[in-house]
Amino acid sequence: MKKDTVCRLCSACCPVIVEVSGERLVSARRKSFLPEKKRMPCAKLNAATDIIYSPKRLTTPLMRKKRSTDFRKASWDEVLDWVAKRFHRHKRESGAHSIAWLRGMAADWGAPWDYPNRLMNLFGSPNTIGNGSICFVARDMAHSFVYGSMAFPEPKNSKCIIVWGKNDGNTALAAAEGILHAREHGARLIVIDPIETNIARKADIRLPIRPGHDGLLAMAMIREIIANDLYDEGFVAQYTTGFERLKEVAENFPVDAVAEKVGLDAHAIREVARIYATTKPACIIDGNGLDMHRNVFDTTRAVAMLNALTGNLDKMGGNVLPQPIPVRNIQERGELSEEALPITRDYPLFNDFSETWGNQVQGCVVDSILDGEPYPVKMVVVQSGNPLVAMANSVRVRRAFEKLDTLVVIDMFMTETARLADAILPAASCFEKTQLNRASIRNNPIILQNEVIPPVGDSWPDWKIIFELAGKLGLAKAFPWRSAEEAVDYQLEPAGVDVERLRRNPNGLRIEPPSYEKYRKRGFKTPSGKVEFHSETLEKSGFSGVPFQTGETGDLVGFANRKEDYPLLAISGSRDIRFTNSQFRVVPSLLRNLSGCVVDIHPEDARKGDIRNDDFVKIETPMGEIEMSVKISTVLRPGIVRIAWGWGEYDQRFNLNNLTGDDGKSPITGTATSRSFMCRVTKIP
Ligand code: SF4
Repeated sequence: MKKDTVCRLCSACCPVIVEVSGERLVSARRKSFLPEKKRMPCAKLNAATDIIYSPKRLTTPLMRKKRSTDFRKASWDEVLDWVAKRFHRHKRESGAHSIAWLRGMAADWGAPWDYPNRLMNLFGSPNTIGNGSICFVARDMAHSFVYGSMAFPEPKNSKCIIVWGKNDGNTALAAAEGILHAREHGARLIVIDPIETNIARKADIRLPIRPGHDGLLAMAMIREIIANDLYDEGFVAQYTTGFERLKEVAENFPVDAVAEKVGLDAHAIREVARIYATTKPACIIDGNGLDMHRNVFDTTRAVAMLNALTGNLDKMGGNVLPQPIPVRNIQERGELSEEALPITRDYPLFNDFSETWGNQVQGCVVDSILDGEPYPVKMVVVQSGNPLVAMANSVRVRRAFEKLDTLVVIDMFMTETARLADAILPAASCFEKTQLNRASIRNNPIILQNEVIPPVGDSWPDWKIIFELAGKLGLAKAFPWRSAEEAVDYQLEPAGVDVERLRRNPNGLRIEPPSYEKYRKRGFKTPSGKVEFHSETLEKSGFSGVPFQTGETGDLVGFANRKEDYPLLAISGSRDIRFTNSQFRVVPSLLRNLSGCVVDIHPEDARKGDIRNDDFVKIETPMGEIEMSVKISTVLRPGIVRIAWGWGEYDQRFNLNNLTGDDGKSPITGTATSRSFMCRVTKIP
C-alpha cells in the first residue's frame, strides 16, 4: 500500500511516498516537480528500511545498572517514574532551573520543540535550549532583523542564483533540483564556496572564498552595487530605512582591499556584484557555510541586505517572505515566573527575537555545568541530539556531561552522548509518528508528517514520551491530548485546518494563495515596518546598527594568532547525503567501509608534508588532535584542508570537534568560530 508523508531523516523535510506491506516499510521515494529520471537520489531515503529496521535500533527503554557502565532494560512506566522523580528531586534541591532540556537537530522544531518547551515552562524551568547558535537560527535572526523574517530563495523561477556556502546536492535535494532546473533553463549560477562542490562545477562563476570571510565579501558587494548605482532606487526609497548609514559603512570595504583579504580576484567580485544586481529576478541561497562563525549574524545580515538593495526581496524568483501558518503557540512561556532567568540570559536578543524559537545557545549548558555560571545545571534531557560529537570543544563538553547528576537521552540509536546517560528513552523514527514538523508550519503549503508504520519495538514517538512524562510530573491537565492527532488539531485550530483535512491533501494544503510583494500592503515585521539597513534595536543594545560598522569583530577563523605553528586553514565538512551530522553511522549500507572519512589536502600541501593518498595523518590544533586518512584533492585551494564531519560518532579518533574551540562567542548569538580554524597536518609514519 502506498502512503504519503514527509521524510525527516534530515532537515530538508522532503514530501515522500512510501510503500508499506502490512506494518512494514518496504521502500520510500521522494516527490519532486522533476520527472523521475531527473530527480536526485537520496542515499538516506534509499536506506530508510536499513535505518528503521537496523539491529542497532533502541527498541526498549534502558536504565544504567547501579555503579556500572552497563544498561538494563526497563519498562516505560519504570523509566518515566524514575525520570519524573529526578525532575522533582532537582527542583526541590536546586530549583527547577537546574534542569535543562536540550534539543538536537534530529528532533526538529515545530511540535517536537513546542511540547518540551510547554512541559519545561509549566514545570518552572526556562532552560529548553535548541542548537540554533551553530545551525540556522542565527541566520534566521539575521534575516529577521533586516526584513522581519527569513526570506526563502525561489531558485526554480530565478534568472540568477547565488549559492553562498551551501551544498544542496548533499543536504537539500529539492533545492538542488530547483537550482539545476533553473540552470538548464538559462539562469546564471554563481557559487561562493571555498570548496568546488558538485553545484560549483556547474556554475558560471565560482568564487572560492577564504573560509570565514564571507561577511567582508558581502559588504564589498554592497559597496560596489551602491557606488555604481546598481541598486533598486525606488524600492530603497520607499521601503527601507538606514540606506545612508549602510552606504557610509560600506565605504570601508573597497573591492580591491577586500579581494586580497578574502582570497579572490577583484575583477570577479565586481563581475558577480554587477550580474547579481542587474539580472532580475535573482536570489541568494545562504547556507550552513556561514554558520559556526562568530560573525554569522552580521555576515548574514549583509547577505540579506543584498536581497533588499537589489529589489529582489519578495519577488517571484527572488528571496520570498514566508506566509506562515497561523499555529496556536502552546509553549506557555508566559507561565514562567519573572525570576526564572535562563542560562542563556546574556543573549536576550537571540532568546526573544522569535515567539517560538526560544533559547538557542547550547554552549551555555556546558558553561553552567562546569563553571556554575550563571547557576549550575544538574540535570539534562537530550532530545535526539549528540552534543558530545556535534558541539565545539568536545573534550570540555564531555567533561561537563560527565559531571551531571542526571542525564536522560531520547534517541533512536545508542550515541556517544547516550553512553553517558542514566536513562535512555527509545525514540520512534520519522515514519513512525504523526507531527507538525518545520515543513508543516513555516510556510505555505502545510504538509503533515504522517505515521505510516507503527513504532518499531517499544520505541515511542516524541509527543508520547513528553505527554506521558508530563502526566508523571503532575501536568496531565496541561497535556490533555490522547494522540498526536488531537494535539495537532488543537495547534492548527487558528488555521481552520485539521489532521483529517491534511491527510486528504497529501501534497500539501495552501491556507492562502502564494503571493509576492506582500510588503506593499503589510509592510515588514521590523520595528520600523521597513527593511532595516540600520537597526536602532541593535544600536540601543550596544551592537553594530549596520553590519561590520566597527570592522571585523574578532578573528575570522579560529586560532588565527597561532598561524606559525598551525599553518593550514581547516574547514569542517563536507556534509554527506548519507548521514545527518553524526547520525546513521551504525548503518553498514550507508557507512560503506568508512568512505568519506578523510581529510582533503591539496597536492601542493601534500607534497610539502610527503603525504600520499590513503596515508594516515595527525591533525592538530591548540585544542587537541585527531587522526584521519588522506584524500589528495584539488576541490580546495592550497593552504586549505577539509576535515570530514560527524565521524566522532563512529570513532572518537575522528572527532573533528576535538580540534575546535568554544571561546570568543558572539555576544549576540553565542556562536563561536568552530567551522574554520588553523591546524597542522603531519604524516603518521
Ligand atoms: S534529503 Fe533528507 S528529508 Fe529529503 S529524502 Fe533525503 S533524508 Fe529525507
